[in-house]
Amino acid sequence: MARNIGSRYTAHQILGRGSAGTVWLGEGPEGPVAIKLLREDLASDQELVGRFVQERTALLGLDHPRVVGVRDLVVDGNDLALVMDLVRGTDLRTRLDRERRLAPEAAVAIIADVADGLAAAHAAGVVHRDVKPENILLDMQGPLGPGGAHPALLTDFGVAKLIDTPRRTRATKIIGTPDYLAPEIVEGLPPRAAVDIYALATVLYELLAGFTPFGGGHPGAVLRRHVTETVVPLPGIPDELWQLIVQCLAKAPASRLRASELAARLHHVLPLLAGLPPLDVDEPDAEPSSEPYEEPDHATLPAGPRRAAVPLVRGSATDSNRDTHTSMRVPAPDELEGGARGTARAPRSPGQRRPGSARHKSSDAVRRRRITLGVAGLVLAAAVGVGGWLAAGGDDGSVPPEDNRQSAPSQP
Ligand code: ADP
Repeated sequence: MARNIGSRYTAHQILGRGSAGTVWLGEGPEGPVAIKLLREDLASDQELVGRFVQERTALLGLDHPRVVGVRDLVVDGNDLALVMDLVRGTDLRTRLDRERRLAPEAAVAIIADVADGLAAAHAAGVVHRDVKPENILLDMQGPLGPGGAHPALLTDFGVAKLIDTPRRTRATKIIGTPDYLAPEIVEGLPPRAAVDIYALATVLYELLAGFTPFGGGHPGAVLRRHVTETVVPLPGIPDELWQLIVQCLAKAPASRLRASELAARLHHVLPLLAGLPPLDVDEPDAEPSSEPYEEPDHATLPAGPRRAAVPLVRGSATDSNRDTHTSMRVPAPDELEGGARGTARAPRSPGQRRPGSARHKSSDAVRRRRITLGVAGLVLAAAVGVGGWLAAGGDDGSVPPEDNRQSAPSQP
């Protein structure tokens, strides 16, 4: 089903869906492109269209091998589309869902690539604001780097900033995916370049550990942890790498490394990681809480695709397609004080591992349900494990672009 986008482009096939719209494989005068067609409600917002047009030069201006280039902006009738370089591969979330965690060398090679891209963007005065595995694309046609990692590119630059305006989100809300939000955003400060560093260090931790340092459970709890908790060490990585992670997850933005420093130090640490296997840690156990929060059903699934971000407002739709812009209420100071400053729970040791554990289920009822589900979960986990192993056999982790999250429902 082909569809014309302006007079110069044709969209042929859906590559993936995101929170802001649908990404199509398309064709332009200079060959294949990826076309991000923004959601109808966004495209019909004249003020937003105006902002995109105003920022056209900034959007089109970022030219770096580690940044997915925006080639054109099309405003045509009801269509608002960003024409981008086509990356033939997959996004990092899809790879992480398959492999759960990456060998340190591959993880660091990917994050070093993204840090290179961020350094160029920050030098040009552009803050990404939504760094997360979904926005990191892996170019499966590019040369293999350290640890067998494909080149990684950061996408969606500037889009979060254009879409998230005070009018759209109001002053009482914050925007982002809770797991990757820097503490200063939770505290209501304007996002500067250091928020990207915090988010990127969070992604690095997640690639190594298989879970984010402060994620899990009620989004309010996630926000509180960003502000009050310190990160739990990961066993089995060189101290030099751990120190980098700690520094970039510092609560004070000024204490974090700059993107160029981070990139240089990651490249420097790479040779120390050659041949290290993926870490053998599992998610920390749930922490008790006075307010029970039931994660949506998908969270009770056994090991396999990792849980998605969850909405802060109870009863609102789950961010099951890991949408970029989870709309969240800024917690009041007393809510943030819900726990004294402490250390996030230690990862479970391998001996304590419970396949498919969903973190931070807090009530006893939820715990009981978990035990009941445990037996079924183990059976399912075995099935998923065998299936995953079979699917992974002889595979380098690549998937054809058309496989990417096509089944994810689009978020209104
Ligand atoms: P989100 O809004 O969740 O960040 P996007 O709308 O940017 O997601 O992208 C949705 C999916 O489309 C991505 O996960 C990826 O699979 C695919 N995609 C996005 N941009 C490109 C691109 N430039 N080339 C190829 N595939 C892309």
